[in-house]
Amino acid sequence: IRTIGILGGGQLGRMLSAAASRLGLRCHIYEPGVAPAADVAWRVTNASYDDHDALRAFAQTVDVITYEFENVPTSALDLLESIRPIRPNRRALAVSQDRLTEKNFLNEIGLATAPFADVATQGDLAAAVAVIGAPSILKTRRMGYDGKGQIRIDRPENPGWTGAASVLEGFVSFSEEISVIVARGADGRVAAYDPGLNLHQEGILRRTTVPSGLPTKITTDAVLMAARIVNALDYVGVMGVELFVTPEGLIVNEIAPRVHNSGHWTQAGCAVDQFEQHIRAVAGLPLGDGKRYADVTMENLIGDDMDQLPDLLASASVQVHIYGKSEVKSGRKMGHVNRITK
Ligand code: ATP
Ligand code: MG
Ligand code: MG
Repeated sequence: IRTIGILGGGQLGRMLSAAASRLGLRCHIYEPGVAPAADVAWRVTNASYDDHDALRAFAQTVDVITYEFENVPTSALDLLESIRPIRPNRRALAVSQDRLTEKNFLNEIGLATAPFADVATQGDLAAAVAVIGAPSILKTRRMGYDGKGQIRIDRPENPGWTGAASVLEGFVSFSEEISVIVARGADGRVAAYDPGLNLHQEGILRRTTVPSGLPTKITTDAVLMAARIVNALDYVGVMGVELFVTPEGLIVNEIAPRVHNSGHWTQAGCAVDQFEQHIRAVAGLPLGDGKRYADVTMENLIGDDMDQLPDLLASASVQVHIYGKSEVKSGRKMGHVNRITK
C-alpha cells in the first residue's frame, strides 16, 4: 500500500496524513466542504458525496480508503467499496452511524449501555419518558457530535422534541468519564492505550488526563470491553470507546470508528501515536504496542482559547497543535496542547 484515501479533511484527516507521511505513505483527501485544512499541501477534492464521478476518480488514485468522519452516505460508500477496500469496514460504520443500532449492538455483545428507547413519534417519546423517567437525554440517532442534537429532559411533562429520529437515554450519574483508544490490525492483533480521564464542558471534550488515577481493575475492564467491541466487528483501525464509570460498573456511552479527540495525548506520550497506529492498521503494517512513556494532559483549544497561544508557545513541556482553520468560532475546536506533566 502506497496511497491512502481519507474521507474528510478536518483536523483528524490532517493529523492522519502527517503520520502517513512519516511512514513514507501518501494520502489523498476527499473533503466535500470548504476544507479547513486546504492550506496543507495535500490534494483536496472540493466535491460532494453525491458526486459519483469525483468519488470514482478519487478511489482510483488510492490503494485503500479510510475516514475521519463516520457520517458518509451509504450510496457513496457502496460506490467507493466497489473500487477499493474500506477500512474500518462497513459494519463498523453502519453500527456507529446510528445511536440506536450502536446501543443494540453493544447490548448484544454483553456490554452495558444507559437505558434507552427508540423515539420515532411524539407518542414514542411520551411512552419512553414514562419508562425511562427524568432526567434523561434525547439524542438524534444520526449526525450528532460535541453534544449537538441533544435535549436534556428534566421534567417528564411535555418534553420538547424537533421530530428527528432519536433515542431517549436515561441519565447516568457517573463518577468519571473515561475512554479507551484501541486498535486492531489486519492480522487481528489488538493494542490499546492507557484509558484517559475525560472532562466535558457543554457537551464538548475539554481535557483528557493520563494516567486516569482510577484503579487498575477499572482501567483493565475498560480495555477488555474495547477489545471485545473491535473483535466483534472484525475491525481494522483505531477506535475510540467512551465509557462512564459508575458504582455498578462501566457503561459504554458511544464508540467512534476512527481516531478520537481523547487520544490526542498519545502524540506526546507514546512512541506510536493514535494517528500512526491507525495508518499502520489500515496499511496492513504491524501495530505499535500502545505503551505510555509520560504523564500527559491534553487540553483542547476551543474558540477564544486561541488567545492563549503566545503563552502556550512560551511554556515548557507543552506540545502545541494548531489546525489551521480559517475562522475562529465559539465552540469550534481550533487546536490542542499536550502538556507533559511527568
Ligand atoms: P462526541 O461525539 O463529540 O463525543 P456526542 O455529541 O456524540 O459527542 P455524547 O458523547 O453522546 O455526545 O454526549 C456528550 C457528553 O454528554 C458525554 O460525554 C457526557 O458528558 C454527557 N452525556 C451524554 N449522555 C449522557 C447520559 N446518558 N448520562 C449522563 N451524561 C451524558
Ligand atoms: Mg459522538
Ligand atoms: Mg461522545
